Amino acid sequence: MTHFDDTFDDKRLAALYKQEEESLIKELSLKYSLKYIDLRGLTLNPEAIKILPEAKAREGKMVIFDKTRKRLSVAIRNPNNPKTKTVLKELKDAGYETTIYMTSTLSLEHAWQRYKDQKHTVATKKGALDIDTENIAAQVSTFKTPQSVAHHILNIRTINGARRISETLETIFAGAIALGASDIHIEPEETGIRLRYRLDGVLHDIIDLERHLYERLISRLKLLSGMRLNVHNEAQDGRFTFSITDKEIEVRSSVIPGTSGESMVMRLLDPTVASFSMDNLGLNNKLYEVMTEELQRPNGLIITTGPTGSGKTTALYAFLRETHKPGIKIITIENPVEYKLDDIVQTQVGDDYTFASGLRAVLRQDPDVIMVGEIRDREVAETAIHAAQTGHLVFSTLHTNSAVGAFPRLIDLGVDYRMIGASINIVLGQRLVRILCEACKESYVADAKEEALIRQVLSTHPQQPKVQTPITLYRAQGCEQCGHTGFKGRLGVYEAIRVDDAVEEAVIRDPREHVLLEAARPQGIPTMAEDGIEKVLKGITSLAELQRVVDLRGGRHMQKNNPEDEAFLSHVV
Ligand SMILES: [Zn+2]
Repeated sequence: MTHFDDTFDDKRLAALYKQEEESLIKELSLKYSLKYIDLRGLTLNPEAIKILPEAKAREGKMVIFDKTRKRLSVAIRNPNNPKTKTVLKELKDAGYETTIYMTSTLSLEHAWQRYKDQKHTVATKKGALDIDTENIAAQVSTFKTPQSVAHHILNIRTINGARRISETLETIFAGAIALGASDIHIEPEETGIRLRYRLDGVLHDIIDLERHLYERLISRLKLLSGMRLNVHNEAQDGRFTFSITDKEIEVRSSVIPGTSGESMVMRLLDPTVASFSMDNLGLNNKLYEVMTEELQRPNGLIITTGPTGSGKTTALYAFLRETHKPGIKIITIENPVEYKLDDIVQTQVGDDYTFASGLRAVLRQDPDVIMVGEIRDREVAETAIHAAQTGHLVFSTLHTNSAVGAFPRLIDLGVDYRMIGASINIVLGQRLVRILCEACKESYVADAKEEALIRQVLSTHPQQPKVQTPITLYRAQGCEQCGHTGFKGRLGVYEAIRVDDAVEEAVIRDPREHVLLEAARPQGIPTMAEDGIEKVLKGITSLAELQRVVDLRGGRHMQKNNPEDEAFLSHVV
């Protein structure tokens, strides 16, 4: 007699039901003209979740999963549910603006789990979630240099008790905001805790904190981030937000276990800073003209390349903004969502929502424009290419050293080389250079070696800019306004290869980099070195800074990998 495996069938049925429900919700969301969201791939904002008490969220079959000031992102199961409607009205009456998403029961269950973590945090350490934002705001205006932050932290040593930890944390945040740091690194070492800020893309040591503060500091930060306190041997992600002087700062934190304890990196996202516009990217005239044309095309693949921290995402965001107009549906799949863009559906990869599965799901949502954060395997590459060939404009990034490197990289991933030329519209390469501080940059006359280098790079420039003799250059000095770094802000240097008939033919015939570069030469787009030298001549950056990121002696396509950026990559992902 045969026994049916009931458990197996139940499991299968349950799995089928879950799948069925996800696709049903996706379909219904179209009917109601609401966005669909899978919450299981997202890091939920603890500040948002606690706006609704758990009982109310469960009763209304909903969850508030994100917020920016008074704007809430709310996921609901059914827009016709009277209880849901009641709660939505209450939120509106309380002055909130809501964006409604439809989501599955499974997603809701996943989100509701977060109430458990919160109860735990609040119950175990009452008040630990608070940081004194007024103190942060007051301190921000007093810090002008990394040294002044270090000096203040040294002074805190005289404070005793719990206030000391709070004061230290508040100073760490205030210093980061005052100096415009993008990331705060807290790294335990045997004898101390290294505090570092990333300023304009470069890590700066601030101070070594005393080792005995470590446990309490890291616990407070984990609590703030909504991470599990009792877990020490796993990587964890979290986030929190705080407001200072009507700016809302979002912090994305990540810890990874290490031999001397957990290292924490906090990325500060200040949505008011980000204005993604093509005009702010620093594209040279030729490339600006080329990109404007490319962004008007209805389909095809646009790829940006470069190491981590080379501004690829910023460029893609600016391009997305450029394609955004009424009647165009844009969906992104990111890891993580770094900035919120209005009117664009942004999703984030997670456990069962990968770039590949996300891309397939997104295609069923009938988008016009898709951004997929990174192509890192054959499956994503082929799905992206397929999407590009079926009427979508697709943006993505590849982790290669140069634009031309994208072609052999895709072939290495196993993509059919005949598909590559037919689906890619353009590949960009980029690096970020620091912009010289206007207040203190110093002019000088280029010496013979520098002049020879500049003239040699420009000799291949397709537009041959005029250069006067003697050549005036600028170098970094340092003043109060730039925190004595000599630089303020960053700008891209670029190169690009359009896939025209000649390049497509070369990809099929002989995809070696120099052959492709030769085929692309008539396009007249300056190389990264040529573009960079022009920015040096304009006094935007220094020759030394350009040489830090671009190899000027290596002919038309040599760029440097920034080892610091690579180290950073291993920290955050
Ligand atoms: Zn300065």
